[in-house]
Amino acid sequence: MTATHTPPTDALLSLRDVRVTFRTADGVITPVDGVSFDIARGETLALVGESGCGKSLTALTILRLIDAPGRIEAGSRILFEGRDVLTLPDKELRSIRGRQAAMIFQEPMTALNPVYSAGEQIAEVVRTHTKASRSEAWTRAVAMLGAVGISSPDIRAKQFPHQLSGGMRQRVMIAMALVLGPSLLIADEPTTALVVTIQAQLLDLLREAQQARGASMLLITHDLGVVAESAQRVAVMYAGQIVEEAPVTALFAAPQHPYTEGLMAAMPRAGSRRERLTTIPGTVPPPGAWPLACRFADRCAYAWSRCTIEAPPLHQLGHGRTSRCHLVEEPARRVAAQATAGAAS
Ligand code: SF4
Repeated sequence: MTATHTPPTDALLSLRDVRVTFRTADGVITPVDGVSFDIARGETLALVGESGCGKSLTALTILRLIDAPGRIEAGSRILFEGRDVLTLPDKELRSIRGRQAAMIFQEPMTALNPVYSAGEQIAEVVRTHTKASRSEAWTRAVAMLGAVGISSPDIRAKQFPHQLSGGMRQRVMIAMALVLGPSLLIADEPTTALVVTIQAQLLDLLREAQQARGASMLLITHDLGVVAESAQRVAVMYAGQIVEEAPVTALFAAPQHPYTEGLMAAMPRAGSRRERLTTIPGTVPPPGAWPLACRFADRCAYAWSRCTIEAPPLHQLGHGRTSRCHLVEEPARRVAAQATAGAAS
């Protein structure tokens, strides 16, 4: 379901030309610059890219959680269950947040309130959005802690965030997100801060909970290994823009954008004997310092003169695929560059 200009009627969430600007001492910067995508009901879309690409800001924009001096520009559209989030009155927006769309953040210690117990924080979500009594909300909170794999949930519910391990805190965040059965989960690097075994457990938990409830998920990650296991489609973001979108299997079989190719080359592979992973040279330039034509040009192994003169459009490739790269029009260059690189290695 690659984004065309008109949002599909069966999409749960559609973003169209979303732009976020910040006024800084050096002028206006646009860290999210014309982002469009759709998420169908029950689907997981992974939004992938290095730190500083604009993924997290895009996620915050969906629930209008951008603080001043950030600004969502006119012309941006965010349709959630057919309603335009950007024009909703605050009261309706508050009822969507937490009840119909919930966020899971990377670092629960900053997202959880240190002065309330785990159970109180989950119960508070229930009481804010439903007519449940205090004791009913508490019962639901304890049950939810059990459902996300916390043992002795009645005891853990009375504990404060600092008394819980990192993995347990993230389970509490997931319980808060799931307790009202939202139709959309927005998970921003939900397991990055945890050790690998706990990461795998929590990703399984999220997948199972999502499937059991038929919810959709926007999964933000820099880790393509997580994408392969968790998502049906992937949108790759670089310097504020979507540069490639594809069904996951098609993306892994044949990435079209050189940035995606670079991310895949940097993925550790099971059984690989390579000691050093290939990395993409350089870093994501900050907003305001983006190259004027192709924003990836100064890191791209395939770049040629056109790439520094003309910004590539987002080409529609069919079968739900897009790529923001001139190689779509000049594929022979990729073949020639790969042959040269192969001969040199
Ligand atoms: Fe690389 Fe040119 Fe494609 Fe940009 S347009 S990604 S510089 S080949």
